[in-house]
Amino acid sequence: MTFSLALVGRPNVGKSTLFNRLVGKRLALVDDRPGVTRDLREGEGRLGDLRFTVIDTAGLEEATDESLEGRMRKLTERAVAEADVCLFMLDARAGVTPTDELFAGILRKGAKNVLLAANKAEGSAADAGIFEAYGLGLGEPIRLSAEHGEGMSDLHAALMPLADAYAERAANEAPETDVTLRDDLEDEDGEDFEAPNPRAAITAARPLQVAVVGRPNAGKSTLVNKILGEDRLLTGPEAGITRDAISLRIDWKDVPMRVFDTAGMRRKAKVVEKLEKLSVGDGLRAVKFAEVVVILLDAEIPFESQDLRLADLAEREGRAVVVAVNKWDVEEDRQGKLAELKESFERLLPQLRGAPLVTVSAKTGRGLDRLHDAILKAHDVWNRRVPTSRLNQWLSAMTEAHPPPAPGGRRIRLRYMTQAKTRPPGFVLMCSRPEALNDSYRRYLVNGLRADFDMPGTPIRLFVRGQG
Ligand code: GDP
Ligand code: GDP
Repeated sequence: MTFSLALVGRPNVGKSTLFNRLVGKRLALVDDRPGVTRDLREGEGRLGDLRFTVIDTAGLEEATDESLEGRMRKLTERAVAEADVCLFMLDARAGVTPTDELFAGILRKGAKNVLLAANKAEGSAADAGIFEAYGLGLGEPIRLSAEHGEGMSDLHAALMPLADAYAERAANEAPETDVTLRDDLEDEDGEDFEAPNPRAAITAARPLQVAVVGRPNAGKSTLVNKILGEDRLLTGPEAGITRDAISLRIDWKDVPMRVFDTAGMRRKAKVVEKLEKLSVGDGLRAVKFAEVVVILLDAEIPFESQDLRLADLAEREGRAVVVAVNKWDVEEDRQGKLAELKESFERLLPQLRGAPLVTVSAKTGRGLDRLHDAILKAHDVWNRRVPTSRLNQWLSAMTEAHPPPAPGGRRIRLRYMTQAKTRPPGFVLMCSRPEALNDSYRRYLVNGLRADFDMPGTPIRLFVRGQG
């Protein structure tokens, strides 16, 4: 049993483009001009390991001669009636328009499950629109670029609990039960600072998503096998069983996890070059689907170009990162090696400052407890929310200690700051002349946030917006 996903939104936000991407065949017509007549399209959608029915509601817009509002209402009611989940799409470049507000109102009242997507979000021109989207009261917008295929992993993450719930429902043969996951999907904008609980966001329905990446022979499959406690991936009669699977569901010390497949975890190809190629591509894919990325280094050859590339990608994709140095059992001068590794880490990966560095031996199992804890901690930090009141006390202390620059003799005024999102933490700073706020001051603020709110090793996003 699969679920159905309706793509809802005003004309020209990119529904057909997303439909094409999800369905994988160029079925729906895409045109620049709003108002091109199209049929209602339905197709089998695929996103990673998920399968669902996608309905492109674009065609309904031109179905009648009624008023715009009448048509929209009809369109929305129909989508709500037919679909298990409505993906409400906005054009992030255009911001939230009155037409979008109308849609939002209808969806808020009638829909069982609504996900909000800010499309055309490639590049910084979209930032303002994305933050406006929070104001719709439909939770955190998923940043998408249907055209460029960006944000698909976030869409996947948002759909995953729904897919799991529907699969569970099918397994329980209780089709009359309604599945409503709004509470789980919504990001509360509350002021309460929840006590950190590393396991808060992890449930059986939503296992922690981990990718183990690194160069070939770093020991990825040995590590995953060790965690599984059996030689299931590479050797034995079932060799190759994971070949087509994108992920592996495991419980590691009672924490449900989904570990994303990389080439190293599969049966090895005979041709070495082929394996090299595969593992880069698969590593990239695994990073996109993960919440926490474990970069597994070989202690003998750490920080290879491939490792650096994967680390950089993990940071750019906004994933929590844990660096694990493997084969520690063969290391003789451990102290010296550790100092050397720390130095290289800071020099080569400054963008991952503060990320945990754990030494392990996948072979003997030493250090795996620490790795487990580091993964949970990184996931917790990645989900952390700082209350606005604390943030603004902090901001005034920061500006007092080190005032913002005054280009042209006029000092930039920092008005206030709020945390707009988690996973990873994202902050909006309102200030005068945002374009004049230089990178070094932005770095000062980001590093301060990291240090003062204990958020090591997670990418922190700072969005600066103008206000008087
Ligand atoms: P629909 O009316 O909602 O189905 O929108 P379409 O899918 O027909 O897209 C409308 C226009 O927006 C087309 O010109 C698309 O190429 C463009 N578009 C769709 N997605 C994106 C995106 O992610 N970024 C940008 N820049 N343009 C997009
Ligand atoms: P992958 O390509 O990243 O999946 O790497 P493998 O798990 O296949 O490991 C590559 C080689 O390194 C194998 O010969 C493993 O036995 C060896 N290896 C993996 N982990 C360790 C470790 O912790 N210590 C030692 N000494 N060897 C290891």
